[in-house]
Amino acid sequence: MEDKVIVVGGGAAGMIAAGIAAKNGADVLLLEKNEQLGKKILITGKGRCNLTNDCDIEEIINNFPDTGSFLYSALYTFSNYQLREFFDQLGVPTKVERGDRVFPKSDSAIDVVAALKKYLDKNGVKIKLNTAVDNLLVEKNQIKGVIDRSGNQYLAKKVIFTPGGAVYPSTGSSGDGYNILKDVGHTVKPIKPSLVPLETKEEWATEAQGLPLKNVEATLYFNEQPIKSEFGELLFTHFGISGPIVLTLSRDVVNHLGKGSLKLEIDLKPALSKEKLDRRIQRDFNKYSRKQFKNSLGDLLPSTLIPIIIDLSPIPEDKFVNQINAGERSQLVKLFKGLTLTILGTRGLRQAIVTKGGVATDEIDPSTMESKIVSGLYLAGEVIDIDAYTGGFNLQAAFSTGYLAGINIIN
Ligand SMILES: Cc1cc2nc3c(=O)[nH]c(=O)nc-3n(C[C@H](O)[C@H](O)[C@H](O)COP(=O)(O)OP(=O)(O)OC[C@H]3O[C@@H](n4cnc5c(N)ncnc54)[C@H](O)[C@@H]3O)c2cc1C
Repeated sequence: MEDKVIVVGGGAAGMIAAGIAAKNGADVLLLEKNEQLGKKILITGKGRCNLTNDCDIEEIINNFPDTGSFLYSALYTFSNYQLREFFDQLGVPTKVERGDRVFPKSDSAIDVVAALKKYLDKNGVKIKLNTAVDNLLVEKNQIKGVIDRSGNQYLAKKVIFTPGGAVYPSTGSSGDGYNILKDVGHTVKPIKPSLVPLETKEEWATEAQGLPLKNVEATLYFNEQPIKSEFGELLFTHFGISGPIVLTLSRDVVNHLGKGSLKLEIDLKPALSKEKLDRRIQRDFNKYSRKQFKNSLGDLLPSTLIPIIIDLSPIPEDKFVNQINAGERSQLVKLFKGLTLTILGTRGLRQAIVTKGGVATDEIDPSTMESKIVSGLYLAGEVIDIDAYTGGFNLQAAFSTGYLAGINIIN
């Protein structure tokens, strides 16, 4: 069987690439290793799918700190506005939430996958599920097709290769793509987890497991120097910390891990200056003046955190509040404004949101997504060395690069 275009991987990048290529007249066969398409999309945004971000393109690029400029052509060819329009036309209108994050109005990632499947069907894409590609067929630096795990050959003039990254392997993206591409001469930048929960040293963090802290500010320190701060929600877990601001900061943790000391300072009351917080504590101490210290923080802290703060504070827990002096109060303020955790490391690839590293961007033509090593081979999505912060940027990159590859296989 000779298909003009083979797309490997039915994720975000692969589905849009296959659909637009077929719409433009190509004969497209999509090969997906799983028993269904879009398995990872289904778990994005906690099942709600944060499709993209409503900011301008420059800001999207800035959210890919290392290799964002590689994405200019892809984003200008298929922007976040076009992505929203695309889904709107497929019957999935979108809405904008906090942080300009875009979600389907239905809050359902299932609808996103269903719409993409509809798009594939409408444009006549042939789909073969349960088919894991093991090798690329290349002759004289020209793509000839692919070989699956059972040894079947699929000949093609063009191949769009979108096997995803190496995180959350249960969704199918188990890092197969890297070795397949190395075998044909591509360079793969070291693979690391990014947007990943952090493991911390202090036992008190595990005592607080399950506790979410909203509206806090966390600052990451490398060798005692502050390097990045994030405001928002943090979650304590059985191994340390997770939650949106931790995932964002984790990218910088990955960059600095093993090179020096890393710690996180949590400001529990970022809206209050030290002076204002001191006055606020004083007010509560006046209100509870006959109580012991351990029973005086109920208006200021969630109950799980109270015994932890009492324990970390130099003030004896049974001291009566009216006996606490200004010096002790100032220590308490310091604790509220800088609850410190030592970072030991990150969780592994299985628990990360996105892969840092991948195929070197300088080996791919950014205006077409064609490989510079193998002609007729196009790459798109997370298999490339592109990774962003949270906010819908990673899916946007997968869709934009997939779309760009899809329109460029016709010539
Ligand atoms: C828990 C979680 C939540 C996330 N939430 C968001 C979010 O809300 N917003 C956002 O922007 N990003 C989010 N992301 C990141 C985003 O999902 C990915 O960056 C994006 O899906 C990458 O798209 P892709 O098409 O490159 O790869 P994938 O979506 O991973 O698709 C790759 C496909 O290729 C198939 N495949 C792999 N190897 C082979 C092979 N050898 N042969 C055939 N098929 C193969 C896989 O089975 C898979 O279907 C999240 C990620 C995770 C893990």
